[in-house]
Parts: sequence; structure tokens; C-alpha cells
Amino acid sequence: VLSNPKTEEKVKELLQCFRLTGENVLKVSDIFADEMENGINDRPSTLLMENTYIPELLQGTETGDYLALDLGGTNFRILLVGLQKGRTVREEVTQYHISDELRLGSGEDLFDYLADCLYDFVHKHGVANRKLRMGFTFSFPMHQRALDVGVLIKWTKSFASTGVEGNDVVDMLRNAIHKKGGLDVEIIAILNDTTGTLLQGCVLDSNAAVGLILGTGSNACYMERAERVSHWEAERHGEKEVIIDIEWGAFGDGGLLNFIRTDFDKQVDTNSLFASSFTFEKYISGKYLGELVRLILVNLANHRLIFGGIMSKKIQQIDSFLTKYVSQIEEDNVNNTLCNTEEILKLFDLDYNEDDIQVVKYVSEVVSIRAAMLVSSCLSEVLKRMKRPFVTVAVDGSLFKHHPRFKLWMEKFVKLLAPQHPFKLMLVEDGSGKGAALATAIAERLR
Ligand code: ADP
Repeated sequence: VLSNPKTEEKVKELLQCFRLTGENVLKVSDIFADEMENGINDRPSTLLMENTYIPELLQGTETGDYLALDLGGTNFRILLVGLQKGRTVREEVTQYHISDELRLGSGEDLFDYLADCLYDFVHKHGVANRKLRMGFTFSFPMHQRALDVGVLIKWTKSFASTGVEGNDVVDMLRNAIHKKGGLDVEIIAILNDTTGTLLQGCVLDSNAAVGLILGTGSNACYMERAERVSHWEAERHGEKEVIIDIEWGAFGDGGLLNFIRTDFDKQVDTNSLFASSFTFEKYISGKYLGELVRLILVNLANHRLIFGGIMSKKIQQIDSFLTKYVSQIEEDNVNNTLCNTEEILKLFDLDYNEDDIQVVKYVSEVVSIRAAMLVSSCLSEVLKRMKRPFVTVAVDGSLFKHHPRFKLWMEKFVKLLAPQHPFKLMLVEDGSGKGAALATAIAERLR
């Protein structure tokens, strides 16, 4: 409640476009359900619905040491994971830096570098003389032809190396390892962080059947009945179920979600590295929520509704408002305090009064609720599709982990949207590492 009711009214009016009507939420759900059905039947869809070829085969017997190479998260990492009856008993991790030059240069150089890092890793950890099996966590949209064949569809995040799109990245890595020499490493599974999160979730809770990422990007995967999956290039082994990677970051590309698109969303899109794509991710993920809040604040200041109409240089800088700040402001909303918000405004060299603080808190709330609602509207359709008596959703990612209300809202909204489908949200950390070891153990058994 602001001291100036006129300002309050105008702020609310400007932000009205972020408040989804019940009708629009249901429309998003319906379109999402249709897109899942299209994708799984190999019809054009903005959801890839990729077959991962990983069946529900965690037996709790998985034992052995596995290497995992994790590319596509915030850091590039190599891990040595020791499993005993499906549980991690040993984990050694080394992070490697990938320079801009490598991320934007030639694909061959990138994969040669990965092989160099692997060489360094096995020597550092004293396993250079052992024959090791490896899982490759590659968190980019890919087309999987088998458990160990992944063709990169499109680079995302900050990667753009040439000569990789359209190629099997397992093959590229294999060649690089061969070229390097001195490495007895066999890659037998490729997966992404979402699938890894679900696999790791299965170890912790036998009801886990959905994997969800809410971090820099967003994506989900789930256990689908094998007979419903029309795309199956590899040999079948009588699987009853298989993990389907929805790839929902690009849901709605091409205008499907235009009915909820605000001018702010358009600006985020224009300013992004991948304009006109990853529509859904731009509404919900950690990479964009802060930027949405920033654009709204700049707009409100332009309308002289906050900061006396005066803006600092910092707040006008694209991507300067981190999603971490949104979480911190949300802490203030939860605790009915002002301190975090004030600190952030100071960080941005902004002059503010009490009303300004309230507006900033309101903006963070509105943007966050919309994101939670959109994720929930899709997740509820996944649960409806699965028709299981109970589903544990394995979730990873900083947005889910640190936003103080995201989980609570999701629980509330999904319950409202899919009341017949009981579920639980469970934080599962490091699925991209441990999950790769599990996928490798499964792949080994299937050979
Ligand atoms: P990944 O890149 O593997 O998805 P994370 O799950 O850590 O890694 O997600 C990083 C993203 O999460 C970044 O986009 C960042 O803006 C966002 N983020 C980091 N800290 C927080 C936080 N405290 N609250 C909300 N989002 C955060």
C-alpha cells in the first residue's frame, strides 16, 4: 500500500499484463498438452519430446566407478563417481574453465580441449591406468538416436562453436579422446541435466518419475509408457517405460504464447542472444527473471512512478539485475522487511523512498508469481498425462533452491490445476554429475 494512491493505481495498471487470468492459464495448459501429444507422435511441435532411451531400470544394484563429463551447466566439470548399490560412495570433481574463445571458436578445438581436461583429470585422480566407462552430461537440445548417440540440434546458453550443430557430440568427443591418446575411456551414455536429475531422484525416492530444472534455463522430463513413443531408432529391449526429455524451454516459439506476451517480454527477447526462440524459458528461468524486473523498473521510472523519475546508469544496463536479487527481494516480501531491497537499490545507486521499496517488492512478486504459474500449468499437464497414483518431482536449479516462495506457489498451483494427481516436489542436487554415473551403469547393463 503506497502513500500515494494515484501512483499505486498506475503501477498496478502497468503490471496488470503480468497477471494471468484463469482462462489464460488453462489455455497455456491446453496448448502444452497438445504440443506434448504432437511431439511424441513425431508431428511438428515446439516440444522436442526426445526419446532418451533410458528405461526405468534403476535396480538399486548399480555398483562401480564411473566417469562423468558435465558440459552445459554454469561450469564445465569432470567427475569420478563411485556407486555402491545405486548410492554415491565416492565423488571427485574438478572444474575446468572454458574460455570465450573456445565456446565461440571451432568445435574441434572445443572437443580437443575436453579431451585434454579428461587427460588431466584421470592423472590427477590416479585412475589413468584403469579402463573407465563414462557418461556425458550434455545439457543442450539434442536429438538422441541411441543411449550413446546425441546429435546437437542447436547451441544455447553461451556456446556457439562451429561445426557441432547437426553432429553427434559423442562421436566428436570419442574422436578427440582417441586423438589425444593414452586414455582408456569408453563413452556409453549421453544425457542432459534434466534426465540426470530424474535418475538421481529415483535413487532417493522410488516414486520419482519427473525431472525438472529451474536454473539458468528450464526443462523437464518424465517417464512415458514405451508404447506411446513412436520415435525409437535404437534396438528395443522390451522396455515398458522410457524417459522422455520434453525440452520445454522453446515451448511456444513462433507465436503460440503471444496471448500472454507483454511488451517487457518482447524487450527481453530482442535483447537476448537467441531472439525469437526459447519463448517459455524467457518467462520463467533464472537467466531472464531479473532482466524482466529491471525492464519494468526502468519503465516505471520513465513514467516517473518510482525513484522520482531519475535512473542510475547501472539500472539501465542490460542483464545487470540478477535473478538472485529477485530472490532476495522476495525474502523481504516473506519476512515483511525492507533491508534486502534497500541494499539492492543502493547497489544500483538509486535514490528511493518508502513507496519505491514497496513498488520494487511488488514487481518482484508479480514477475515471480507469473513464472511459478506458467511452470505449474505445464507440470500439471505432465502429471495428468502420466496418470500415476503419486509422483515425486525431482527438481534442481538455483531458482527453485533459492527463491523463497517458488516451491510453495508451485505446490499450490499444481494442486489447483491437477487436483486428482498427488505429487511432491523434491530438491535433488547434482543430478548432472551423479545422474551421468547412473545412466552409464544402466547403459552398461543394456549392452
Ligand atoms: P545452471 O546454470 O546449471 O542452471 P544454476 O541452477 O545454479 O545453474 O542456475 C543458475 C541461474 O540461477 C542463473 O541464471 C542465476 O541468475 C540464477 N540464480 C542464482 N542464484 C539465484 C538465487 N539466489 N535465486 C534465484 N535465482 C538464482
